[in-house]
Amino acid sequence: MNIKGKPLSLIIPEDKIRTRVKELAKEIEGDMGGPFIVVSLLKGSFVFTADLIREFSVPVKVDFMWVSSYGSSQESSGGVRVIQDLIIDVQGEKVLLVDDILDTGYTLREVVELLKRKNPSVLKVCVFLDKPQRRKVDIKADYVGFEVPNKFLVGYGLDWDEEGRNLRGIYAVD
Ligand code: 5GP
Ligand code: MG
Repeated sequence: MNIKGKPLSLIIPEDKIRTRVKELAKEIEGDMGGPFIVVSLLKGSFVFTADLIREFSVPVKVDFMWVSSYGSSQESSGGVRVIQDLIIDVQGEKVLLVDDILDTGYTLREVVELLKRKNPSVLKVCVFLDKPQRRKVDIKADYVGFEVPNKFLVGYGLDWDEEGRNLRGIYAVD
């Protein structure tokens, strides 16, 4: 498989993802102890969010936030611009923030601050992938699907210049 002529190597196959998503959902649901609101960050986390929410057996509401980080496309530098804010009011509600990948941490740190200002009663963070080696700010996710090496990854919602989101596994661009 390749994108824009560059070969892709499989890092996480589809069946491993499916198993891990089920495990994560069980753990999250147990901790939340009742209904909650899933806040999914566009665009990268839409595939993960779609799979995750269908594993929950408590009632969940789903909303989306779309932010863009300042800096180059492959490295954020702190500060985000809100392109699309939440529609659901999360004040006093339990919230699970879902993102595709925790890299430097700048994006998530900013979004967590934005969400805290909306006064949810609980705010937990779930990321599908974590690149701990790349961290620049002190932030940890409460739930992590997989720790991954410091490579540029695509698939399962993650893109390279808008391509590759539809791949069923996670691939590294070689
Ligand atoms: P951070 O602010 O943590 O550096 O950046 C997080 C965002 O950068 C992710 O939500 C994602 O949009 C993008 N990103 C970071 N690493 C990768 C990667 O390996 N592949 C893709 N497609 N996006 C990444
Ligand atoms: Mg993102």
